[in-house]
Amino acid sequence: MKSKPKADILQWVRKPAVIVVVVVIVAAGVLVRKILYYSADPIGEKDCPPLASAGDKATRITLPYDPSLTWEQKGGTINDSSCLDRTPVFGIVEVKSTSDVSRALAFARAHSLKISIAGVRHSQGGQAFAKNALVLDMRTFKTVSLDEKNKVLTAEGGATWHDIQKYLHPKFSVKAMQSTDIFTVGGSISVNAHGMDHQAGSVGDTLLSVTVMLPDGSVVRTTPGEDLFRHVVGGYGLFGIILSADVRVTDNVIYRSERQLIKTADFPTAWKDIEANKNIGLFYAHLSTAPGSLLDEGILYTYAKTDADPMLSPPLGEVSSVKLRRLTINLSKLGPIWMSLKWWMEKYVEPKIETCEISRTQALATGEGCLVARNEPMHDSVPYLKNNLKNDTDILHEYFIPRDRILSFVAGMKKIFTENGTNILNVSIRVVHKEDIALNYAPTDAFSVVLYINQTTDAAGNAKMKKVTGELIDLTHAEGGRFFLPYQLHYSPEQLRASYPAISQFFEAKKRYDPQELLTNTWYETYKGV
Ligand SMILES: Cc1cc2nc3c(=O)[nH]c(=O)nc-3n(C[C@H](O)[C@H](O)[C@H](O)COP(=O)(O)OP(=O)(O)OC[C@H]3O[C@@H](n4cnc5c(N)ncnc54)[C@H](O)[C@@H]3O)c2cc1C
Repeated sequence: MKSKPKADILQWVRKPAVIVVVVVIVAAGVLVRKILYYSADPIGEKDCPPLASAGDKATRITLPYDPSLTWEQKGGTINDSSCLDRTPVFGIVEVKSTSDVSRALAFARAHSLKISIAGVRHSQGGQAFAKNALVLDMRTFKTVSLDEKNKVLTAEGGATWHDIQKYLHPKFSVKAMQSTDIFTVGGSISVNAHGMDHQAGSVGDTLLSVTVMLPDGSVVRTTPGEDLFRHVVGGYGLFGIILSADVRVTDNVIYRSERQLIKTADFPTAWKDIEANKNIGLFYAHLSTAPGSLLDEGILYTYAKTDADPMLSPPLGEVSSVKLRRLTINLSKLGPIWMSLKWWMEKYVEPKIETCEISRTQALATGEGCLVARNEPMHDSVPYLKNNLKNDTDILHEYFIPRDRILSFVAGMKKIFTENGTNILNVSIRVVHKEDIALNYAPTDAFSVVLYINQTTDAAGNAKMKKVTGELIDLTHAEGGRFFLPYQLHYSPEQLRASYPAISQFFEAKKRYDPQELLTNTWYETYKGV
């Protein structure tokens, strides 16, 4: 066969229709690759290139590893959900029983090792682990039982809310927990977590007692009001290992879920109405992250009690459309158009999907309608927040703002975001009540402003996040509020002291309960000298 002359081929290639087809095919290929990349499930635990301090080499410790303990890891490193904080450790022990904890403590004491405690490792900044520590992995210490008559759940420290909800559903429900269900009971008590139930307050408020193993190996049950209790709740694992807790639970109920678009300026008035309506069982707000309406408008999410029978609600399902949700979040990191698209979807598309025009029976059957069991909105393990994106991570922040200062705080926050070009993925407002614990983030009733911020994992990304964090903490202080401690350690000792005036007493109490400083972590090691 005769081959086509070269000139002929060029002419063919130059035809506009052909060029358009080729361009469309290439563009479609690029788009598909991007969609796959931004929606892909994570392959294993995400790790980032170590930053200077986090990547320090472990001091080599040559000790025999106690064969009576189950070692998940001998040596090596541990990381947290930010992926930025790889920390060298002596080893990680799988905890299945109280006696595992007591043997690990004895081994550490005998060999002058330090102990750090790990739940599902969602506190960020590497703060939960100390360099070269023996880490107790509590996730396998997770038996739960229920006293139905008195509505009291007893949960071991490593049980997650996810498992607990499955255990309680459909008759009962967790009273207070984070807004997502992945966390352990021990990790939640140690930060005194809080979430969507604006009437319940914090996890600490729902505890009848906590059983801890003290650094000397003794086991103590402590109850609200006691000095040890006030230090274990919100004590960041520094006073004892939480073996189990007696937690008050509540009846599961069926809610009608509603959303209302408001101007942020109207938020204080809208909140007064919600607060007055005792029928509303869950509440939170999202503020706009779209550049055109940044923090100026928001959506109020409310869940009002109905008289539908919760026993008819279907089994708890796992969260749906994971890839689509992940894609939407990850695309929103790409710039203003995508960020606007995400907010537009939340504003206009989601309400259409969640139509109220379905019958109660149908709503209950799908679990996605406007009628939902209390356990449903709280049963979200956020798998869509995990991804494979390179040089990319998302960081949580939380600021507690006295209720009458919320609008001036939001105005200040908008200025900070705009000036720093912050890649903000989500802004929520929730409700916390006055607390009475040693390291108290809420000395008065407050709103908690929760931020999810994207950053690159290189030094520049970290420096940018540190700057924004510092400015947000100063703003919070100026408004009479406090910042939440389970996140990155991007604050100075002065900022810590200003936010937590009782910090010195907290550290003195730590020395009283644990004179050898057996229980430690990077947060304590960084700030104990303040
Ligand atoms: C995406 C995301 C969403 C979040 N949402 C919320 C929210 O809605 N509300 C909220 O309040 N917080 C929220 N947080 C913060 C979260 O509540 C804390 O980070 C919590 O400690 C995580 O629990 P964990 O099981 O991962 O604990 P880890 O991070 O593993 O540990 C946290 C601390 O608890 C200590 N600890 C763990 N187990 C025990 C134990 N058995 N005994 C003694 N000490 C122990 C650790 O030593 C450490 O100091 C969120 C964090 C992220 C990353």
